[in-house]
Amino acid sequence: PVKRNQEIQEARMELPICAEEQIIMETISNNPVVIICGETGSGKTTQVPQFLYEAGYGSKDSDNPGIIGITQPRRVAAVSMSKRVAQELSLNEQEVSYQIRFDATVSPKTIIKFMTDGVLLRELANDFLLSKYSAIVIDEAHERSINTDILIGAISRVLKLRAELSKDDEGKIKPLKVIIMSATLRVSDFIQNKNLFDITPPVINVNTRQFPVSIHFNKRTPNSDYVSEAFKKVCKIHTKLPHGGILVFLSGQNEIILLCKKLRKKFPFLMQNQFKSKQMLEKEKTFREVEKVKENESITSKEADLDTDSEDFEENLENDEMTMDEHSRPLYVLPLYSLLSTHAQLRVFEPPPEGTRLCVVATNVAETSLTIPSIKYVVDCGKVKERLYDVVTGVQSYIVNWTSKASADQRAGRAGRTGPGHCYRLFSSAVFNDQFQQFTVPEIHRMPIEGTVLQMKAMNIDTVCNFPFPTPPDRGHLHKAEKLLQYMNALDENGRITELGRTMATFPISPRFSKMLIIGQQHGCLPYIIAIISALSVVDPFIKDYQLENSTNSDDDDDDVEKEYKEVRSNELNNISESHEAILQKKRQKLIRKKFYDVQKKHAGLDPTSDLLKLLNVVGAYEYEGCSENFCESNFVRPKAMEEIHKLRGQITNIIQMNCPGVDVCLDPKMKPPSSIQLKAIRQVITAGFIDQVAIRKGLIDKSSKTFSSTRNVEYCTMWGDDIAFIHPTSILYHNKPPDFVVYQELHKTSKVWMKGVTVIESS
Ligand code: ADP
Ligand code: MG
Repeated sequence: PVKRNQEIQEARMELPICAEEQIIMETISNNPVVIICGETGSGKTTQVPQFLYEAGYGSKDSDNPGIIGITQPRRVAAVSMSKRVAQELSLNEQEVSYQIRFDATVSPKTIIKFMTDGVLLRELANDFLLSKYSAIVIDEAHERSINTDILIGAISRVLKLRAELSKDDEGKIKPLKVIIMSATLRVSDFIQNKNLFDITPPVINVNTRQFPVSIHFNKRTPNSDYVSEAFKKVCKIHTKLPHGGILVFLSGQNEIILLCKKLRKKFPFLMQNQFKSKQMLEKEKTFREVEKVKENESITSKEADLDTDSEDFEENLENDEMTMDEHSRPLYVLPLYSLLSTHAQLRVFEPPPEGTRLCVVATNVAETSLTIPSIKYVVDCGKVKERLYDVVTGVQSYIVNWTSKASADQRAGRAGRTGPGHCYRLFSSAVFNDQFQQFTVPEIHRMPIEGTVLQMKAMNIDTVCNFPFPTPPDRGHLHKAEKLLQYMNALDENGRITELGRTMATFPISPRFSKMLIIGQQHGCLPYIIAIISALSVVDPFIKDYQLENSTNSDDDDDDVEKEYKEVRSNELNNISESHEAILQKKRQKLIRKKFYDVQKKHAGLDPTSDLLKLLNVVGAYEYEGCSENFCESNFVRPKAMEEIHKLRGQITNIIQMNCPGVDVCLDPKMKPPSSIQLKAIRQVITAGFIDQVAIRKGLIDKSSKTFSSTRNVEYCTMWGDDIAFIHPTSILYHNKPPDFVVYQELHKTSKVWMKGVTVIESS
């Protein structure tokens, strides 16, 4: 018997999927694979696991004693959904648990387990029958992440095996149930693919009550500054239109932070009422009354079409002063992106403080994974940040691109869950019609796949090209990945996985890094290599100078970094006739900057010739000082990244202890800095790990005698393609004399190709 509190019970009854519980459970009981399609917010992720639970799945003395497993493409969703389901079922976090790369609450008591799709893929390598599960729910299948695609392919085989074994072996092995869930009806790649499922799986459509959403296109499409455009739009909505939450879609973290800052400044909100001036409370009161009146009027289309506003209004907005608009109440602005702490992410589900309007500024994660309640207005910049990868040159780029029509429609739909809504698109209908693709290209066609191929080989899938991919990648692409793995000795000449390859596959990191671990065992270097690759596997922990608080510019385009350097300098020169306060503020900023540059020097250490060694220094120092937030603050590094690096170090060390009996390694919190012999060895490992990513100074090839005092504008040739690459301004090598040979960790393309994570190769 399930105990749910009344409030939750009532909220559940509102969810469209709850009306279909019986049909869903009957279909699951009669079919091995079921596909469920339903709009975002219809209740798929939170309710389907509960249906299974109530039907006895996961219960020791039932026909289906195994765990109920649910996969998510994003960590954010795995964590927050497990918390929500635990709360709805009044169970604890061990019974309804989550497992992501860095964190887990699983225990022997676990009944329902949320995890990222990568976690389940790794489990498949150890147990291809997935014997501890009775049902697997693959969520967000429409997103077509590589891992989801591979999981669906692999699970189509697991199903057959489990079904056969359940016939032979009396009662010991039970058939597996698979539920694939999608926020769109575009599931033909799964259904019509005869390689995947012999019998076409039934599709259940959850009928959602979706209220109409009026779409308002911009007349003109701003060139690049859609953050300002979004700011103006939110201001207009907030000051002119009746109550209801606002959800803004931007493409990346820095833009989100910038917009949040601007909005908070414009519509200040103080956490505690006691700090509010009487005036402000008065204003709020009036506002609520005005709101009441407005609520009762319906918005006329003229009103909602904010583009027809008078020019005056525009001008007011340009004037970005600390003025409270006459009728504006505070705006409760919350950011939402994956690097944010879980705690901060969960705030979007709480009702906003009384007297405020909720405004969430989010990345794609709010498109289908998380449903934010009571959103009435969506502001969509139409962009998405995508990682692109050039298979031939290895050049990676984060490109901010137009999203697809399908995803723009998903975003708009967020406004119509609780009532009629409005979506403001910050681009013109012509751009939408002519430049937006119909659908997003599946990730497997855009990303390096050697890690995926190694995972598959570890599952004993030898002929990767016969694997039932929902949409198979290019054969040449698969071939190249196999070649790279052979060259790393992870596969033998017949393409079979080697012992080394198996060990590599157990690490939750890319094969290149696993390989570095394995060659890093000389001279007692392993702990240092573990620290370096843990750091490389997590996002860059260093805060960049252009991201400092109060920095004038927060654009995250690499080119702007250079611009920023110039801008800061000219600002410093033009420092004339300003108010006392402004001068103080400038001084403070200057001090912060000075401290920032001093700290960078300290991190660079005695041997400032490698960004990777700089990482090692900071990881060591963080651990040495007890992993404190204080350390992060005074050293300009991101606490969440540092914590993840710390966890990954522990995890990798454990895996080595368990799998490599001869190797003696432990996580030493007081790791000494490497000796000069060790330093040399570490450089060799780095070079060996990135040996296909060497760059040579072009002047050396051209025999030019020109000399440079910094690496700015110094051209390098890589081994691939004809692109000329440059050392990125954030590299510690940027201000040094340009070295002849370097290895780089990544190439990033903006208007130029940049090398990041650079290490000098010593010519001996
Ligand atoms: P779907 O998976 O179909 O998109 P969900 O199951 O994620 O739908 O969401 C169903 C409802 O539960 C939504 O209205 C959402 O706002 C609500 N919800 C989800 N997580 C939380 C949470 N942590 N706190 C409060 N409400 C939540
Ligand atoms: Mg969902």
